[in-house]
Formats: sequence, C-alpha cells, structure tokens
Amino acid sequence: MTPLTIIHHPECILHLTGQGHPECPERYIAVINELQNQGYLQEASFNLLAKKASNADILRCHSQIYVNRVKAECEYLRMLNIPEATSMLSTGDVQICSNSFEIALLAAGAGLLAVDKVMQEKSKTAFCAMRPPGHHATTSQGMGFCLFNNIAIAARYAQATYNVKKVLIVDWDVHHGNGTQEIFYNDPSVFYFSTHQEGIYPGTGKKEDIGAGNIYNCPISGGKNSRLEVLKAYEDDLANAMLLFKPELVLISAGFDAHHTDPLGGYDAHCGTPQAGFDLITQDFTTLTEIVQKIAKKHCQGKIVSILEGGYNLKALAESVRAHTKILSE
Ligand SMILES: [Zn+2]
Repeated sequence: MTPLTIIHHPECILHLTGQGHPECPERYIAVINELQNQGYLQEASFNLLAKKASNADILRCHSQIYVNRVKAECEYLRMLNIPEATSMLSTGDVQICSNSFEIALLAAGAGLLAVDKVMQEKSKTAFCAMRPPGHHATTSQGMGFCLFNNIAIAARYAQATYNVKKVLIVDWDVHHGNGTQEIFYNDPSVFYFSTHQEGIYPGTGKKEDIGAGNIYNCPISGGKNSRLEVLKAYEDDLANAMLLFKPELVLISAGFDAHHTDPLGGYDAHCGTPQAGFDLITQDFTTLTEIVQKIAKKHCQGKIVSILEGGYNLKALAESVRAHTKILSE
C-alpha cells in the first residue's frame, strides 16, 4: 500500500480570478513545484490526475438550480469571447472565468478519487492539490473563492459508495467553513470540527452552533500566541470528542492561511490591530497533522483524505504543504 497519493490536475491553472486576486493560479504551481521537489510526483502510481465529479456526485451537496447557475454564468463568459475575462459569481464573492465550472468539477472529483484510493486500501492517505477551494460553498451559494464544497462532496461520496457510517471533517483554515457546517448541520453521521479566527469572514462558526451535536466550533481570537490555542483545541477537544464519535474516515480541510505570514489570515499583516490574525508557524502544520493522524490511526487505520483550502502566501503555502504531506507520507 502506498503511504500517500497526491491527486492534482494541471488544468487548475485555467481557473482565472483576475489580476491581483489572492486565490490565483500561482497557488497551484507553488504547491505542485514543492511536491515535485519532495519527490512525490516521480512515481506514476503515487500521483494521479483528477477526474471530473459527475452531476450526481455534486447533487449530494448542492441544488441543481445552483449547479445550473454556475454553469450558465461560465458559459456566458465563454460566449463573450474576451480572453481571460472574469466576473463575480452572482451568489457571492467568487471570481469566475469561462473555464471555472469545469475546473470546479475537477477539484470536486479529486476528492472522490482520493476517497477511492484510501477506502480501497490502495493508499493510506491522499492529498488533493487542487483549486478552487470549497469549504465556504453552501448548498445553493458559492462564496469566499469557493464554487463546490469539495470536502462535503467527498464525505457524501464515501458514505454512498463505501457505506462509511461516520466521517470526521477537520478544518484548520483560518476561516470558518460555513458551507460545510450548513450542509451537515443536522446530520450526526458527519462530525465537523473547525478552528477559526473569531470575528472575521464569513462571520459564522459560533461555539453555540452545535447542530445535532455533530458540529464543534472553536472560534479563537487572533493575535500573538493564538497558535497555542489552535494546537490545544486539536490536542484536547478534538481528541476527546473522537473518543465518542469514533470516525471511520478522516477528511481534512487543509487551509494554510492561519500561517503568520499569510496576507489574509496571518498575524504579521495586521499585527497591532484588532484584526491581527493567527500566528501559526510552518512547524505547527506538522503538529496538527500528527495529532489528526494519531486520531485516524486510533479509530480508522490511519485513513485520511486531505483537500487543499486556503493559503495565500505562496512561500508559506508551499512550506506548509511540505510539512503536512511529510507526516501524511509516514
Ligand atoms: Zn481561508
């Protein structure tokens, strides 16, 4: 069995978001170059190209009306025939181009292939190096750079295809995954655990929002040493909650914008202001991965599927992905 499979697709660079947008094609390139340098992409059996998710796969989490809307708005941009034209999706702040619908299907499809590899025990873990991200996308609304909720679609696919009864979704992106929470809000078969900076976008993720007891939000104030609270939440709260839940598969919404150098969520960009972000260092993503891996080994033979979410400082993103995948490959 392969320890770690990487799922990716070069067409991820064709999802254009316009000049200067943080969720840019260069993110994919930075991550892939790093994985290449680490030797993960040399062996054909260790890295796979994503395939598009089917409409039925997407409909486990999104309405057909919403899917049609994304498709139609991308087709409209194609019809305009203006090179590299982008516009904002009508449901929220996601920049789209003529290719975005197809690339979003690939990003969702990557998670399905990852679930296949892990559930069929071809690979212990899998990491999807894809964009656009997904955790802000709700049933009927794309927002926060997200079109389809990749992690939620993967969770539902695992349940439908492999009869997985209990799925844990861990989300350490600095932003709360409002879409993931909405999709599973009253579904005790999926446990959603999120650490996120309190009071920033999208404003959801309150401690008291517990769904059917399956939602566990850890809103944490930004600022110096916020990293220690984030680590503690995983060491104590997550580990304890899982003693009861006992997941059969662990999914990670792996956002790296809690890194102290991140332009959106990092401490350095806003230090000294009330908006000061999280101050995680690269090593913390090693620790977080180790904690989650320990939980996965205890409850589900180490089965982990990790899907890239945010992370907007290209150097920190690459370093953090290296730290994360190194542990996943052990
Ligand atoms: Zn984020």
